[in-house]
Amino acid sequence: MPEFSGENAFRHVSELVGFGPRYVDSPASRSAQRYIIRELQKAGLSVRTDVFQDQTPVGTKTFVNIIGIISGRVRKTDSGPIVIIGTHYDTKLLPDFVGANDGGSGTGILLELARIIEPHTHAVDYWLVFFDGEEAFCNDWHQCQNGKDNTYGSRHLAGIVAAIAKGHRLNVKAVIILDLVGYRNLRLEYDATKSDPTLIRAFREQATVQGIPLLPNHSGFLDDKDPFIPYPVIDLMQYKSYPHWHKSSDTLDKISPESLQRVGRMTKAVLQRTELF
Ligand SMILES: [Zn+2]
Repeated sequence: MPEFSGENAFRHVSELVGFGPRYVDSPASRSAQRYIIRELQKAGLSVRTDVFQDQTPVGTKTFVNIIGIISGRVRKTDSGPIVIIGTHYDTKLLPDFVGANDGGSGTGILLELARIIEPHTHAVDYWLVFFDGEEAFCNDWHQCQNGKDNTYGSRHLAGIVAAIAKGHRLNVKAVIILDLVGYRNLRLEYDATKSDPTLIRAFREQATVQGIPLLPNHSGFLDDKDPFIPYPVIDLMQYKSYPHWHKSSDTLDKISPESLQRVGRMTKAVLQRTELF
């Protein structure tokens, strides 16, 4: 497997930020979708989209999840096992908010993973998933729609995955979510209440190798992993100690190629632990 380049991941984030605010169903969101699909195809992945409409506090919106598939050794249509590596690419509906770290950093890392993970060398299929509509339209996560004003994309895709899995055509080995993972002063947390112990151990080991502080959050948090429980999940993010969280100052200068590289290499190393999957 080629080495993960933080510079490449950073360039992707720079492109995304350049489109402008990527809130759901916006012109910049559509530019981001085209960019993500083009980059995945350039890397040789097969791409699927999951397009759907849903009610939001600001009306009916069209959402687009993008899935880039890296085939494993055994390949039958829609047959598992699979490992999902996901992030959201949408940005919160706030004035001048471009989400370099929040929505951008994870997307940049996944696009670089698409380049370096070689097909047909692993037992599992990797699904690189770019979720739309993670962010709440209302200010607070639980404020509107009985707490359902968030994670629109991951809830929709988890429903599809569950339906396919019911027919025993899919075996989800793990769901790994990255978000807010590019801050210069990198310090990540994982949800200690819901994350899978084996995945926690694997990520903590590799975080140490990369010099990334990775700490348990014992009160837990909600994110794109939650709709996929009870599959083994983990998500890594930094929002408490990220001073620009949901502020218009979440711009490109707050993230660094070095942080993206550390997280990318940590993730790659865990994915290479084939005994886990
Ligand atoms: Zn956010």
